[in-house]
Amino acid sequence: MALIVQKFGGTSVGTVERIEQVADKVKKFREAGNDLVIVLSAMSGETNRLIDLAKQISDQPLPRELDVIVSTGEQVTIGLLAMALNKRGVPAVSYTGSQVRILTDSSHTKARILKIDDQKIRADLKEGRVVVVAGFQGVDENGNITTLGRGGSDTTGVALAAALKADECQIYTDVDGVYTTDPRVVAKAQRLEKITFEEMLEMASLGSKVLQIRAVEFAGKYNVPLRVLHSFKEGPGTLITIDEEESMEQPIISGIAFNRDEAKLTIRGVPDTPGVAFKILGPISAANIEVDMIVQNVAHDNTTDFTFTVHRNDYQAAHDVLENTSREIGAREVVGDTNIAKVSIVGVGMRSHAGVASRMFESLAKENINILMISTSEIKVSVVIEEKYLELAVRSLHTAFDLDAPARQGE
Ligand code: ASP
Ligand code: MG
Repeated sequence: MALIVQKFGGTSVGTVERIEQVADKVKKFREAGNDLVIVLSAMSGETNRLIDLAKQISDQPLPRELDVIVSTGEQVTIGLLAMALNKRGVPAVSYTGSQVRILTDSSHTKARILKIDDQKIRADLKEGRVVVVAGFQGVDENGNITTLGRGGSDTTGVALAAALKADECQIYTDVDGVYTTDPRVVAKAQRLEKITFEEMLEMASLGSKVLQIRAVEFAGKYNVPLRVLHSFKEGPGTLITIDEEESMEQPIISGIAFNRDEAKLTIRGVPDTPGVAFKILGPISAANIEVDMIVQNVAHDNTTDFTFTVHRNDYQAAHDVLENTSREIGAREVVGDTNIAKVSIVGVGMRSHAGVASRMFESLAKENINILMISTSEIKVSVVIEEKYLELAVRSLHTAFDLDAPARQGE
């Protein structure tokens, strides 16, 4: 008999019919003898609707009151599911974050979980009840309702699984697992049986939005086995776990991530003196703009070119800041490009294999795709290319690293 935390996302509880379906599913798991804690999101669209209501009163809603408002979405779904379970003869009880006592700090709208009181939940489980907990919310030490940031129900699920030392935390969603890359770009993308926390973090931060990044970090830190599954289709999903066996069969690359949201800025002819990187990036960070890749060229004629990428939404602001800096430090010019994309290959297998980056560059060269920037980490190689080549690049890399699904009979 296992203790499983199951989290269902907004689309899985988007209507009363869906909630009834979730109840059927939970009932089956219960009848198989598992102890179950269910964490729910609000109905899809509901959190946005609530934020919108608040914004009709004020452009800048008071964070404490905003939390009071947006936390109600989850309160509705947990009550409905608990009713649906009881209707099926499955004893169940719902709790808000504050009723469990999911204690958080007081940073409204982006609170961090400090401690979870597991006593009430354990007592209910012992009595044979399914416990249904509102995701995304907690309470601070003064009793104020807090929320954990958008997508925060994933974090609630993982945190509860960690606190209860659950055997697995299952995240039910509208995809059947984590894929080698976006199946909308590569038809031969495959569902991964397994991926490590580290790889998942790289994939998630690069735009594979299956799981909230914080939840993956949390799961990695407390070593909570996480599984992503489809809410209404059968299947094993994808297990996210620590890398136990370094098997020979393990693919070098687990997946290919990409991101179309970046823009590139270059400041040319920068006097090559100590502190110049700080002079350039200091004002950028002071303007609250996050920088991703950074490249500084080797100097010639005592000047250098300095290039970095930012989110596309920050492009204009970054450009303005950089123009100022350029005048101040006597650089030659500022140029920028918003039509770029970043493509990354991700895999822990890179640690033990040489030549991964060159295989990537070879594959891009074959397609005549020019590389504009390169950066690497221990388990990732990223390149910036022209956006129009993005799909071609992802497809050719998917093939080059043997990630294509085997052709089915008759294909
Ligand atoms: N309902 C919240 C949101 O939409 C939390 C979640 O769904 O995870 O962000
Ligand atoms: Mg979500």
